[in-house]
Amino acid sequence: MLFSRELIDEKLRRSIENSKDYIGLGELASYIPELMKVDKDNLSLSLISTTGEVFTYGDKDITFSLQSISKLLTLIIALTDTNPTDLYQKVGSEPTRYEFNSLIPIGDKPANPFINAGAITTASMVLGLNNDHKFERILDFYRGISDFAEAYMDHDIYMSELKTADRNKAIAYYLKSKGIIDQDPGEVLDLYIRACSICTNIEGLAMMGAVLANKGIGIRTREMLIPENIVQIVVSQMASCGMYENSGSYLMNVGIPSKSGVSGGIVGVVPGICGLAVYSPRLDRTGNSVRGKELFKIISQDLGLNIFV
Ligand code: GLN
Repeated sequence: MLFSRELIDEKLRRSIENSKDYIGLGELASYIPELMKVDKDNLSLSLISTTGEVFTYGDKDITFSLQSISKLLTLIIALTDTNPTDLYQKVGSEPTRYEFNSLIPIGDKPANPFINAGAITTASMVLGLNNDHKFERILDFYRGISDFAEAYMDHDIYMSELKTADRNKAIAYYLKSKGIIDQDPGEVLDLYIRACSICTNIEGLAMMGAVLANKGIGIRTREMLIPENIVQIVVSQMASCGMYENSGSYLMNVGIPSKSGVSGGIVGVVPGICGLAVYSPRLDRTGNSVRGKELFKIISQDLGLNIFV
């Protein structure tokens, strides 16, 4: 990075301070009741450079579920298990102005892999002997790319979502009726919800961003973890579709390909430079972390991370 360690530290601390006005704004995702059990004003932030420098603030031990951030994992694994041409026959690559759990942007195929319909479809392409095996592959993959950060499936969050998953069930059955998925919709949805219930800490998430920023090469090990052509697809899809129907204005204001989840996490990728992750659970109307978005905007400006300028 272009700045000294001290200067980056100073800028990140100041950004956190400057985002304080956003404390108290936004609501928790109530449609998964278990997600209401957190401290609303939790905050953690981590930036990891492709050269391995780590900057972490707030409660670094706090864990939270990936929710929609897990859509990155299913997309990467599905791309590895099939190939981009076959995968994009079943899922589109275009942003949508509809909310993430809408049935409208399904059409011939789900608009993109980051709306629920798209991620349920990519979950159907993850190979394995059964759901336990498929889920182990997703969790193991996350462990590898997070450099073995804490990661586990939270059973209470999983059960809580399963019980209230009427919309996602409708989506899964609709996908089956259209021949977009051919397995049992309940099984596919179960895998999708398990992946959403993977919990991790902020450094794990920032490390995932750093690996994507580093062309898929492990930061410490220098091992190839994700093929470069898949990194290119995933990061560009983050840019165009990663923040739901807010993706266009977010990209214009922040300029960092990012993916969010309704637990309040956001992971960003600045190619060649760093991964950045924020956790702050209060959400706006589109399901994105209010303070998280603001922090991404300030940090992008302060550290010159906008990929377009
Ligand atoms: N598990 C959540 C759902 O399917 C994930 C959505 C999200 O994070 N936007 O509704």
